[in-house]
Amino acid sequence: MTETVRCARCGAPLGKDDVAMTRKMINRGTDTFFCVPCLADHFELTEEVLREKIREFKAMGCTLFS
Ligand SMILES: [Zn+2]
Repeated sequence: MTETVRCARCGAPLGKDDVAMTRKMINRGTDTFFCVPCLADHFELTEEVLREKIREFKAMGCTLFS
């Protein structure tokens, strides 16, 4: 059974990238997750910047994104 993970702020259902990015940006051990738009807002970045970082982390082979 897979539990749907939702953004702690806006309630949006989260994908693997959102979860991985929350771990990367906040804390690897966190059990509170945020969607990319809410993470961007929290860190005062644009969503595009975070999406670009996700691409970079994947290209680097970051294990959080595998
Ligand atoms: Zn959100």
